[in-house]
Order: sequence, then structure tokens, then C-alpha cells
Amino acid sequence: MYFEDVRQWQGTAEALAKELKRQIEQLELSIEPPALRTVRSWRTKQLLSQPKGQEFGCRQILEGLATALLLKKGWTLAAITQVLPSFSDDTLEMQILAEAQGLDPTWLPTITATALPLPTGHRPAMDLAEDAVVLLAQGIIRQYERVLPGQQIVRQEDSTLPPELYQAMCKLGRLYIEEGQCDRAACVHTVLNNARYPLGSDRWGLKILSQLNFRFSNATIIDPDLRVPTSDCAEIANLSGGFGENNVIEHRLYTELCDATQRLGGRRQHKAYTALRELFGRYSLIGQRQLFDCLVDRDLTPLQGMIIEKFFDLVPDIWLIDGLAHRCAYCGTLMRPHPNNKLFAQGRCPIRQCIGHELPKVFEKLDPNKDILWIAKPQILTYWTGPAIDELAIFDTARQNGLDAELYPESDLCDIGINGKVIGIDAKSYTSPVTLALRLNRSIGGLIYYRRRILAVSDRLIEDNPSYISTLKSTLDKKDDPASLVIMSVSSVIEFLKKMPYANQT
Ligand SMILES: [Zn+2]
Repeated sequence: MYFEDVRQWQGTAEALAKELKRQIEQLELSIEPPALRTVRSWRTKQLLSQPKGQEFGCRQILEGLATALLLKKGWTLAAITQVLPSFSDDTLEMQILAEAQGLDPTWLPTITATALPLPTGHRPAMDLAEDAVVLLAQGIIRQYERVLPGQQIVRQEDSTLPPELYQAMCKLGRLYIEEGQCDRAACVHTVLNNARYPLGSDRWGLKILSQLNFRFSNATIIDPDLRVPTSDCAEIANLSGGFGENNVIEHRLYTELCDATQRLGGRRQHKAYTALRELFGRYSLIGQRQLFDCLVDRDLTPLQGMIIEKFFDLVPDIWLIDGLAHRCAYCGTLMRPHPNNKLFAQGRCPIRQCIGHELPKVFEKLDPNKDILWIAKPQILTYWTGPAIDELAIFDTARQNGLDAELYPESDLCDIGINGKVIGIDAKSYTSPVTLALRLNRSIGGLIYYRRRILAVSDRLIEDNPSYISTLKSTLDKKDDPASLVIMSVSSVIEFLKKMPYANQT
């Protein structure tokens, strides 16, 4: 066979560059011999499979020749990286010799035979990035669904990954390699950990995800502290359709609460719904005595057992600081111990929408020996308590200014209704304006029953991303229901409500 004389070959990158040049000349291949710099970059990009610290061998001569040949055919480096390992030395030799004889062999059959995904060829990397992120979101929701609600998915040890998550890791791996980096998506724990940071952040370190034209660069897939898949995650997961409910987690919570309140019947049912959502918003950390008092006040004692079981956990010892439960001064939830002892010596509020997430302040310290302490489950904190910060601020302003305001009317038609069906307000805290727009383009929900429909965007999100509202507006449909929405920041909604009573008098 032709390659007999190099079977035992060994050498450095420099020697390999020389050997490739010699082979290309000898075989009369119509390709440029790669320079030393190129050989080194191929090694970094793992096109050359030689393990770190070892000399190159015969296999790398074959890989080098194959890479140069496939690049000339227009393959991307990512596609080549994907495919090369599936070729045996013998196959590589045959293919290279066939190229030398001008037979233009097809490199595909081996790939199909080994069931690898087809090479991406000229497919834009942006499509690959979007596919990877959709699969990631789907995989993370599946993973979350597998563990019991309330558990932290990042801690989950499971030998079998949801297929979506596995596929996402493969695609992300290709993106890293295509960018000349090492594959940082090979370990599921690293991937789940990174999912708690925005896709376009340095944490992921993928250039393509941070590009302006990658539409989900602002999205965070898992809530950083509560470790529950975010609303953004749910929306991205559903991009390709067919992923069931728009937001499986939120939908399940909503159904549970409706089922619970339904048995009270009629108008009491809606009142109970509002009372419980308000309870989760204002008192996500609560002593058993106060909880029972609240339920008595609101005529909800028949639901007592169910409420504790479905929506609360006992405060675990690991979240106590010097044996006490610290309550956040801004949102009232339980602060958690944080490794940064200087900045967060008194703990940190886990709710990303809360000022206390960055600037910790303790309101009071509760002793678990004096009363049984309950904390709302992580998914409640993510989907109800966090968003309630803006919702309650708007509602309280409306009330203080003498407006006829209702919180979560008719079991959640909207967040705040004013003057019956005259004004409906929804506060939203999706980290990505694009996922929010996709959500609204699908349906504006119960706001449709209101004459004036206001969508309030969290000021913190606008601070982080000054183009949030303009991106949201440009991604919203320009016709039908989405076009009827008035988009404002939460602070402008509050200003607007303060002026409203006077506007009515004149
Ligand atoms: Zn807080």
C-alpha cells in the first residue's frame, strides 16, 4: 500500500507540516500544503486527534491530508471535526488515494453508516446556534420534569440524559470547536451551570451567542439562584412548536391553584385565587402561626393542608444564618447564605427581580425554634414571587391613589385590572425581549378582555439592556392583538397611575 513507509512515522508539528507538503507533492494533490501555523491551529481545533503532549503519528498525516481535501470541497471545520473520527485509517487512505487519482470520491457513505449527523456543510453557524439553544431549553425542561418539583436540577445525578439535552451538548460542542476553542459543552454539569447565565455572556464564551444578530443572547435559561427553568426557557423550548403547553411549569402551577380554589365555588373561587397569589407575593417566607392567621382572615382554612403541601417547603437548616432565617427587606423572602462573605455576609435574596439580589438588606431574623417556618417552593418563587414585586408595586400605587384596582382578577385574566375592564396591566420580567415578544405574538392572554392593554416591563431589565423596549416593539407583530399593547416601563406605569385620579376629575 502507498502509505506503508509512514506507518511508524513520528514527529513534531514542524515535521508534520513538512511531511504533509511532501505527501501532497508526491500524490500530486491539487491542494495547498498547510503552513506550520495552520497545522498548530488544526491541533487546537482537534482536527488532528493526537493527544496533548504526544508526538504526531501516521494517523495525523492522514487526518491532515483529509482536512485539506475536505476544506477544498467547501466543508466547514466543524463538519470535518465531526466526521474525521468516524473514518478508520484504511478508509482515510483509500479516500485520499481516490482523490489523488481524480476520482472525486464521496466522503458521505461512511458517515451515514456510522449514524453520525450529516455534516453541516455550508449551513450557517447561526442556524446551528439557534438549534442548539432550542434543544438546550427543551432538554432542561425535560430534565426538570423528571425530578420531583422543588428539587434543584443542577444537582440532579442521572445517568441517562434527555435526548434533547444530549443533542444540545453535541451542537454546542461543535460551535466551540468551530470557534477554535476546546469543547466546553461536554460535561452536563458545566452546561447546566452555565445555563444560569445569559447565553451571550462570557460564562458561555461562545462568540456566536453574543453576536448582536443572535436573537436570544440576553436570555437566561435557568434562574441563577432558584435553579428553575425560566419563562425565557419555556418560550425558546416551544419555538419549534409541538412542545405542549407554552410554559409547562407555570401552567402546572396555575392548574394546581385553580383546582385548589375551584372547590370553593363561584365568586369565592376567584377571591381565593387572588388571595393565595398575593400571599405568595408578599409572604413567601412565613411562620406557621402567621400563615394560619392569614388563611383564617381570607376564609381559606379549608385549603390549609393542601396549601402547605403543594406550595411550601420547611425552611431547611442550610439556609439559616447563625441559626436564624433572614428576611429580605425588599421582597420579604428568605435570604440564602452566599460564599461571598464580604458582600453577602447577611445572606443574599435569591430573587433576581429584587433589589436585595444585588444590595442585601435584612428586615428581620426569625428563629425556627419559636415557630415553624415555611418558604415557598422554588418554582413559586420563580414564577410568582419574583414577578409579584412589580405587580404589587403597581397594584399598591393604584390603591393608594384611590383607584378601583383588582389584583389577578377572575383567576388571572391579567395582573392588575383597573375600573373593571377599562385598563388591564400585565407586568413581565422575561430576561430576553425577543422571547417575550414571541410569547405575546402567540397570545396576549387575558389582556384581550380589557379596553386599554398595558404591558409593563421591569425597570431592572431596561437598566441592564437599554434597547429592551425597542427590541420588544420591533419583534412584536404589527397587526392584530399584539399591536394593541401599550408598552411601558414599570416606573412609567406607576407615574401614569399617580396622575390618573387627577386626570379623571378634570
Ligand atoms: Zn428580596
